[in-house]
Amino acid sequence: MDTAATESKAIFYLRVSTDRQADGAAAQLELLRAAARNVGMDLQISQDALTSAIAFRKTEVGSLYLDFGISGYFDSTRPGYQKFLKRALSDASITHVFTPARDRIARPEDAAEFASREHRIRAAGKTLVVGTKVLLPLRRGDDNIVDTITASLEYGQGRAYLDGLANKMVAVKAHKAKAGCWTGGRAPYGFVRVLLDPQGCVVRALKDGESIRQPGYTVSLRCGNLDCIQVWNDLILRNYDPSGGNIGGKQIANLLNARNVPSPDAGRSRRGKYDQDARQVPGTWTGSMVYALIDNPAIVGVLRYGKRGMGEHARLGENGIPRKLTSAEAPSPDAPAKTIENPLDIQIAVQGNWMLKDGSLLGVDGKKCFQADLSVWERCQRKRKANAGSQRGVPRCHDPYKYPMAGLVRCSDCGNVMHGIPSASGLRYTCGTYINSGGAKCGHNWVLQENLLPDVLATIRESALPKVEDLRNTLKKLVAERIAVARSVDDGASLQTERDRQARIVQKSLESISTAQDEDERQGLRQIYRRERAKLEGIEAELKSSKVEQTIEKPTNDLVEAAVQELVALRCKLDDITDRREVAQLLRSLNVRVWLKFKKAHWGKRLVNRLDTGVICIGHAPNPPGVVDSLGMVNRGDRI
Ligand SMILES: [Zn+2]
Repeated sequence: MDTAATESKAIFYLRVSTDRQADGAAAQLELLRAAARNVGMDLQISQDALTSAIAFRKTEVGSLYLDFGISGYFDSTRPGYQKFLKRALSDASITHVFTPARDRIARPEDAAEFASREHRIRAAGKTLVVGTKVLLPLRRGDDNIVDTITASLEYGQGRAYLDGLANKMVAVKAHKAKAGCWTGGRAPYGFVRVLLDPQGCVVRALKDGESIRQPGYTVSLRCGNLDCIQVWNDLILRNYDPSGGNIGGKQIANLLNARNVPSPDAGRSRRGKYDQDARQVPGTWTGSMVYALIDNPAIVGVLRYGKRGMGEHARLGENGIPRKLTSAEAPSPDAPAKTIENPLDIQIAVQGNWMLKDGSLLGVDGKKCFQADLSVWERCQRKRKANAGSQRGVPRCHDPYKYPMAGLVRCSDCGNVMHGIPSASGLRYTCGTYINSGGAKCGHNWVLQENLLPDVLATIRESALPKVEDLRNTLKKLVAERIAVARSVDDGASLQTERDRQARIVQKSLESISTAQDEDERQGLRQIYRRERAKLEGIEAELKSSKVEQTIEKPTNDLVEAAVQELVALRCKLDDITDRREVAQLLRSLNVRVWLKFKKAHWGKRLVNRLDTGVICIGHAPNPPGVVDSLGMVNRGDRI
């Protein structure tokens, strides 16, 4: 019985794969340590002891048992595991037995065997901790059938491997972050990533996206561009500082844009959700960019990891332990995994080695290059906290169909997509160029969804869809013609005439291709040729069989009715905007695009942009003339 933590004694097992041993083993050790801490125990093995054990291929270090190699899935090649198991079952002083995730231990064929070993360990009165899961000792008669089934499933499943991998990634990153290594992606504004040798000396600066795996080498940050650091400190922090400029993030963005300061992502290209080709980002500042820098502690020498939770399989949890996604975060067929803001106690923040104790930031050359002002930064943080409600665990968008026209509405002035944004008066679509540039480009063009959506749907209903009676009559007429033709071609002679006529059309369309003016026209003519050619082949096939179906009349009436019913259903959908998911899918299936033009209008004494006209394109209809060429080029930079 484990009555108190002081009397508890634990053993641990981990397996080291040969590739990138150090990383994997360190992460596993960190996982074991975290799991031990969770049940109030301590794993007294240092990282160094582990490193030397790996170097000398020891299978036992104090309470830790080890195995090596990828092929260590066979019991015979697992001396460490054998010793570990023997001790777990025979040493009465052991109260807790720790193993990493199950997929680290068994191959699928072994699943049942390993599940039964778990059972034996627990039946021997030990608490078994697998990964982060705590399995209590079993007493005689305890029913653990569920645990056994779960265990065999987990040992055997590919899913477990995936989760394990994701957990490992989170643990490795958390572990590295705790050790002061930069594990994030791009360096913050004005900083550059540098490669440090095992002694902690800068080897060289790393390029964007460059990744290096060298044992003992780590990545950190250094000041890369002093101008940017000065913008960050002097123009952003000092202007936001309540004891300084005391203005808001959006105003700071305007100020930076007015001074033509390039934004952090200027010069990069990106393919947006609604873009077909990558574009250069506009290079202008937005309020949220400014706030991101105000919140980023890199400028005061702090390395922060895990501000956002955004993994699909595992995320950073308490004490650096990976956790599973909650049901609200988990991805679904409709929506990707939700990004959340982690609470402060989950985020990892340590002193980065790019700042000296006196508060000076270091350059790549190791020399002091900038004196950071901690008090300004702290005042800014207090103002941020006071101004912003807690974003703890708040998903960014609750309802993927909140804006059923998302991506379909464009601003005619600049060609950009209009974004769905909530406002006090209701949900709006606002020009993306205006939003992305923090108000510097295009204009404040917006329209309320509740005004726009019914209009768009009504227009589709009235102008694009046929009336029910019209459709029925047209279809009936078509069917009648088909039947008439079918009857007339019944005698071979008329079919032969038809064939000769069609052959002439095919010949003509073939000749016309060579006279085409340009590639577009040639393309069109080729299509006509192919169509006529297909018709000809159809007639020839009919001639060959010389038998014509006579029984098409009855089923065609049913088909006409089915088509009419389809139309009726479609019209109903267009009347009802309560089911936004339905509306969103309908608009997309019809390939609806809406182009909105705005004009200046007086609103009281102010001059505002009012919706003037709109063009709705449906199906294959081309975009309105003029807009395709300008699409995205005016304000979002050039196409790549
Ligand atoms: Zn615009």
